[in-house]
Amino acid sequence: MSATGQQSLFPEQPQALSQNRHAAQASPEKEPVFVSLCFLGVPCRWHGRCAKRRDALLDKLKEKYVIVPVCPEQLGGMPTPRTSETLRGGTGAQVLDEGVRLFAPETGEDVTEFHIRGSYITLEIAKQVGARRAYLKGGSPSCDKNGITGEVLKRGGIHVVRVG
Ligand code: SF4
Repeated sequence: MSATGQQSLFPEQPQALSQNRHAAQASPEKEPVFVSLCFLGVPCRWHGRCAKRRDALLDKLKEKYVIVPVCPEQLGGMPTPRTSETLRGGTGAQVLDEGVRLFAPETGEDVTEFHIRGSYITLEIAKQVGARRAYLKGGSPSCDKNGITGEVLKRGGIHVVRVG
């Protein structure tokens, strides 16, 4: 419980912090790499739950890189939990180039701009920290290699790896 009497969103946080094997550590020898935030066990998915943790992948990446976790949908201003739109077989390129829109199935709201904003903020962070590779969650309208953020990062010269 927090000081305000509300239950913490991250009840395991103290232990996780003390055992944090994935936090970005300053290292002049290692370059930064983007990883979908939900791979770290953070409950940032649209339904407010975690994705399957990717500890093996993260441990492997940490041998060469400094992990930089990002959640483009949150960066774009979307709350968690949030709406559950998909690209319905479309691509981020179609959103960026052809005016395809994303609508929240729950409300009918056009949420395209949140996704686009998050994708460009993510690219800006990549430039700021010097990230040249990204390991992002497949199947997400943002993070998928062919999703909106995946597409924006690719166009920005970032090598995007789809993690299924
Ligand atoms: Fe995970 Fe990406 Fe969806 Fe955020 S936008 S919850 S990082 S898949």
